[in-house]
Amino acid sequence: MTVLAEVLRRDRVFDFVLPEPDFAGGLDTRHGPILYVEDVTVAFDGFRALDRLSLYVDDGELRCIIGPNGAGKTTMMDVLTGRTRPDSGSVWFGSRIDLRRASETAIARGGIGRKFQTPTVFEHHSVMENLELAMAADKRVWPTLFAHMDSADRDRLAEVLALIGLASLERQPAGALSHGQKQWLEIGMLLMQNPRVLLVDEPVAGMTHQEMEQTGELLQRLAGRHSVIVVEHDMAFVRSIARQVTVLHQGSVLAEGTMDEVQNDPRVVEVYLGE
Ligand code: ADP
Ligand code: MG
Repeated sequence: MTVLAEVLRRDRVFDFVLPEPDFAGGLDTRHGPILYVEDVTVAFDGFRALDRLSLYVDDGELRCIIGPNGAGKTTMMDVLTGRTRPDSGSVWFGSRIDLRRASETAIARGGIGRKFQTPTVFEHHSVMENLELAMAADKRVWPTLFAHMDSADRDRLAEVLALIGLASLERQPAGALSHGQKQWLEIGMLLMQNPRVLLVDEPVAGMTHQEMEQTGELLQRLAGRHSVIVVEHDMAFVRSIARQVTVLHQGSVLAEGTMDEVQNDPRVVEVYLGE
């Protein structure tokens, strides 16, 4: 690939060329879903990672996305977070915010939080400080944060600490937490920014059985207040939390329904057996 071709790749749109949509005043879910992905295609050198994908997620929903490797799950999250631009199709946040025209930064600040697989906590800071720093990133008052926490901020912090089950460890350095606890802390850090939608990629990879159970409880508690989209390979885990499940295959939706419905769908069986 030439340098020019690299610079002009569609998934490398520069943030500064995009006008920012009005996130604060613009999110409207009164008449429909919080996320609309409609007929979205993303091609890499002619290969369609997403192929006319359509997906709708309601406000407060907990949605599990499954599908074999290469099905397009990560690409779908990249499209929702502005990291990859679709070649065609529409992507809306509520009925007014066109995510194709929003920068990655604006989308993150505007209410779509994403948790990657590897936790990126500040190991040398305490659990509590990690949450404070996440709140600061949101308010853009980094250097002066600690002097500026008001009582609402403190309440929020305590609430998130309890929600992620780390209240008794608030003074521990994050580096001393178990793998599972670090994952919860990172979810907590996302929560400090009050996202409307949380995208979680393989949350239970590498967790103990007990940590998996607690993660399932946490995600179910978050639903309702947030829309939660979980991509996960562990079928036992998906079954334990699933309400509506979407199966992706070759860049589009193969099946959608309850876990029982999709697991008994012959097309789904075939795709998983063929893996
Ligand atoms: P999943 O997360 O479901 O495993 P991905 O979304 O990562 O699937 O990938 C879907 C397909 O698109 C795969 O075949 C992958 O190799 C391809 N793909 C993903 N990102 C790129 C990229 N940046 N360049 C080329 N091909 C890509
Ligand atoms: Mg993936």
